[in-house]
Amino acid sequence: MVEGKILKISGPLVVAEGMRSANMFDVVRVGDYGLIGEIIEMHGDRASIQVYEETAGLGRGDKVVSTGAPLSVELGPGLVTQIYDGIQRPLETMFKKVGPNLVRGVEEPALDRDAKWHFVPCVKSGDRVTGGDIIGTVQENEVVLHKILVPPRRSGVIESISEGDFTVTEKVASVKADDGVSFTLELMQKWPVRVPRPYAEKLPPNEPLVTGQRNFDSMFPIAKGGTACIPGPFGSGKTVCQHQLAKWSDADIVIYVGCGERGNEMTDVLREFPELKDPRSGQSLMKRTVLIANTSDMPVAAREASIYTGITIAEYFRDMGYSVAVIADSTSRWAEALREMSGRLEEMPGEEGYPAYLTSRLAQFYERAGMVRCLGADGRVGALSAVGAVSPQGGDLSEPVTQATLRIVKVFWGLEAALAYRRHFPAINWLNSYSLYKDRLNDWFSEHVNKNWRAQIDEAMRILQLEAELDEVVKLVGVDALSPDDRMILEAARSIREDFLQQDSFGDIDCYCPLEKQYDLMKLILSFYEKSKAAIARGADVDKIADLPVREKIGRAKTVPHDQYKAAFAEYEAELDAELEQVIKEAAEQ
Ligand code: ADP
Repeated sequence: MVEGKILKISGPLVVAEGMRSANMFDVVRVGDYGLIGEIIEMHGDRASIQVYEETAGLGRGDKVVSTGAPLSVELGPGLVTQIYDGIQRPLETMFKKVGPNLVRGVEEPALDRDAKWHFVPCVKSGDRVTGGDIIGTVQENEVVLHKILVPPRRSGVIESISEGDFTVTEKVASVKADDGVSFTLELMQKWPVRVPRPYAEKLPPNEPLVTGQRNFDSMFPIAKGGTACIPGPFGSGKTVCQHQLAKWSDADIVIYVGCGERGNEMTDVLREFPELKDPRSGQSLMKRTVLIANTSDMPVAAREASIYTGITIAEYFRDMGYSVAVIADSTSRWAEALREMSGRLEEMPGEEGYPAYLTSRLAQFYERAGMVRCLGADGRVGALSAVGAVSPQGGDLSEPVTQATLRIVKVFWGLEAALAYRRHFPAINWLNSYSLYKDRLNDWFSEHVNKNWRAQIDEAMRILQLEAELDEVVKLVGVDALSPDDRMILEAARSIREDFLQQDSFGDIDCYCPLEKQYDLMKLILSFYEKSKAAIARGADVDKIADLPVREKIGRAKTVPHDQYKAAFAEYEAELDAELEQVIKEAAEQ
């Protein structure tokens, strides 16, 4: 064990001497309290340590002890429903133990050491297993079947394994390795957070992560295993979007990393999630969720670690063959933590003071997402999708964190203050947002929803783009100068924006919109456009079409309950036909 002494303290950064034989990224305990830190730079016998706890009260000459192990997370039954801080300390357990104010140096295992889990093996003595193989399962709760895996890079023949109730550290199996030495397997394994967990092969994503949000699924879909970012200025709805994803996306496991945002936003999650029901399982959403909370009032260095902690837990569940979503709010706050540490290390600053390695660090995070063939003989497939919010100062998308993120992620959901101000929610700009998965997902949508899925979306996008062009004309010469056909384009675009794109996250019914309803709703709106256009050709007046009573019904169509809307939409179509006939008749009579 290496023991050194503090030479210098600067906020969360401590420099210690006498650390020559310590390793980069070793976890160290600092001072009498044993504050938790990590070596992030070594120069000769000097180690620069980022300390995950408040460093006030430390002094020159205080001892620094290396634990000889990198920053790691505990992986095993008991993870879901937990709330951790950035270095995986269980906040609820700590609260029970030491009260609401975190006492420094408190060490509490991430997984409860006393809880017993019922383990059911699926292999038997004499079976050969290798890294990633499933040796059995634990039903962690009503929703999550926790698969117990042979850790990567280990293999051998099972000597003994038994069903029963075990704590996470008790032996459930023993394995004779190829070199003849036996090792034991427990329900828990550890993994260093900065090292991606291995997989057999990365696969091209070909299935959407269904979110029930029309802007995402229909317009700018993200694939399972894909990456996306939500940049937007303060108040534009980033947090609401992230919460919607965490609540409704069809992932088996959701890891929500609340990184440097206000504490009360995290409180919203804690209050809401247990009450909300997963539309698929009917169970509380919390039962498939792990929360990592590192709010703005918690130490800045732990914020830096929190996204690694989050993504490592996510990879572990992906290894079981699950679809996992990591939602990070916000990566800007994370980058600020990086900038603060870099400044204290006196590194050469890059753009706006961010370190030159900002892009590569962001890339390291997003590259851990993906659809993969997991390790293990059964060839199962798992997916890890990553979505990060970015909060650029003043909504300026040219700042370094947004720019670096855009170079990496494949979906861009751009939120805009002007739309939020007009209460167009979600305030996603339909003209500059994009998804690079759209083409790849065509087959899936056409097979699972409707073969016209993409054609409809393209038609809607065409109308919205025409609207933007016509808006310019209207600004110059007024709306009356437009031809009836062009005015109908504006009406159709308005309907697409208001009746389709706008989606109330707080509405009882509209907070989640099934794919089929998304399709049928768009079909209804486009049918309104097509039929109106035909009516105009037969002399109908555009103003009258805009005021048809059925327009209002189409406006409310999204709030018709999911099990009743088919009949309602058919009725609207019939009413539309009748009302248009009437308008045509009136025009002919004049
Ligand atoms: P940000 O995280 O970007 O600062 P928030 O997510 O907190 O912004 O959103 C600000 C407010 O905008 C919310 O409190 C809510 O009233 C409103 N809002 C945002 N998105 C929606 C939505 N999809 N539906 C309804 N209201 C929304």
